[in-house]
Amino acid sequence: MDFRLSDEEEAFQAAVRRFGDKVLRPHEREIDTEGRIPAEVLRAMADLGLLAMPVPAEYGGMGASAVLTELAAEEIGRGDFSMATAVFFLLEAGWGYVLSRHGTEEAKREVLPPVCAGQAFLGVATTEPTGGSDLANLRTRSHRDGGAFVLHGEKAFVSGVEEAKTLGGGHLTLAKSATGGFDLLYVPTRTDGISTQRFHNMGRMGISTGGLTYQDARVPAKYLLGTEGHGFGCAMEGFTVARTFVSAACIGAAERALETGMAYIRERKAFGQPLGKFEGIQFELVDLWTQVEAVKWQCRRAAWLLDSYTLKGDDSHRSEVDRAVASVKLTAPPVAFECVKRVMMWFGAAGYTKDVGLELGFRGIMSYLVGAEGGLNIMRIILGRELLGKEFVPYK
Ligand SMILES: Cc1cc2nc3c(=O)[nH]c(=O)nc-3n(C[C@H](O)[C@H](O)[C@H](O)COP(=O)(O)OP(=O)(O)OC[C@H]3O[C@@H](n4cnc5c(N)ncnc54)[C@H](O)[C@@H]3O)c2cc1C
Repeated sequence: MDFRLSDEEEAFQAAVRRFGDKVLRPHEREIDTEGRIPAEVLRAMADLGLLAMPVPAEYGGMGASAVLTELAAEEIGRGDFSMATAVFFLLEAGWGYVLSRHGTEEAKREVLPPVCAGQAFLGVATTEPTGGSDLANLRTRSHRDGGAFVLHGEKAFVSGVEEAKTLGGGHLTLAKSATGGFDLLYVPTRTDGISTQRFHNMGRMGISTGGLTYQDARVPAKYLLGTEGHGFGCAMEGFTVARTFVSAACIGAAERALETGMAYIRERKAFGQPLGKFEGIQFELVDLWTQVEAVKWQCRRAAWLLDSYTLKGDDSHRSEVDRAVASVKLTAPPVAFECVKRVMMWFGAAGYTKDVGLELGFRGIMSYLVGAEGGLNIMRIILGRELLGKEFVPYK
């Protein structure tokens, strides 16, 4: 067992940290208040190869390992504390990977290069107004009509709806297939028969969330992923990959919160001594740091498992992969949220101000507690299934 990163991984991690310090941090408040990631930030990400990292070079990506992508996600979560850039990053990485793995050659050549260049957006649309956890009962329908698939239905709480409209691009969309299974289709947002709606979130303001309505929306058959009626597995693979990067972004944000807090409790005095000398605060720091360290290595192991099996198309360790990913997605967001909350309290009244900026992380990380990329209870259901067996899944 060797926990060291390779020289290349360390060098890349350092380059992304510099990008986070020099480009993301100076822009994070603007990202939050303007409600978009500036074009120059996306250009800089594309120049560093940070968009859709795991996509193979022939389609414009860098063919990065899950471990390298995980390291980058940590740094991006640390750099833009609002989490908006991290969301953009992990959607492109996770769903770009899925398209590169299960898409047709024509779709990959057409869709992926502009995504990797930051000139188009790629996301996922599974959630519906009636719910996002119980995907097997989703209502959007697709059927084949000649050389196209026709979609009817509605999606909700979908990230990047506005970006896909303005930049161009679309979402990998899960629908009930006429065959009785599920189709996963790349659906460009600028398709006739699609209308969009913007929702108003409380955080990660730099990336939009919205609804998509399909009324006889026709997408060419070349945009089908996998085979007709067999898209559910492709979508689940995407969630497995994307959840690992979500967790990594939360870990980066947690580390930034603790670093901010440590600098403060070294300097700020109460009752004649630095706050860091009070065990009530010092021990809290130590407990939080220990949790972050544990979840970080749990996350890197999940990425290593993805590289060892999932990304190679090897399903033989599915249960091990599912346990690793679900447990890290169950742990990383609450640990990160707790770090931000505790550090806000160390700052006292100042922690409640926008000047200190901890509220950016407080609002952003909350999205991963309420449900983005799967609610915490859904991670528990996956783990319960893996630990006790399918007969213990608490629903039909
Ligand atoms: C900021 C943000 C961005 C998002 N981006 C996207 C996106 O890009 N694409 C997309 O498709 N979706 C997106 N989502 C939606 C997300 O996937 C859903 O929020 C998630 O799947 C949960 O669905 P829901 O919100 O409908 O909650 P519900 O499914 O209605 O669940 C409500 C609550 O009940 C819990 N619950 C559900 N079933 C059970 C059970 N059997 N046992 C115990 N508890 C249960 C859930 O964990 C949750 O806490 C986004 C969400 C947010 C907040």
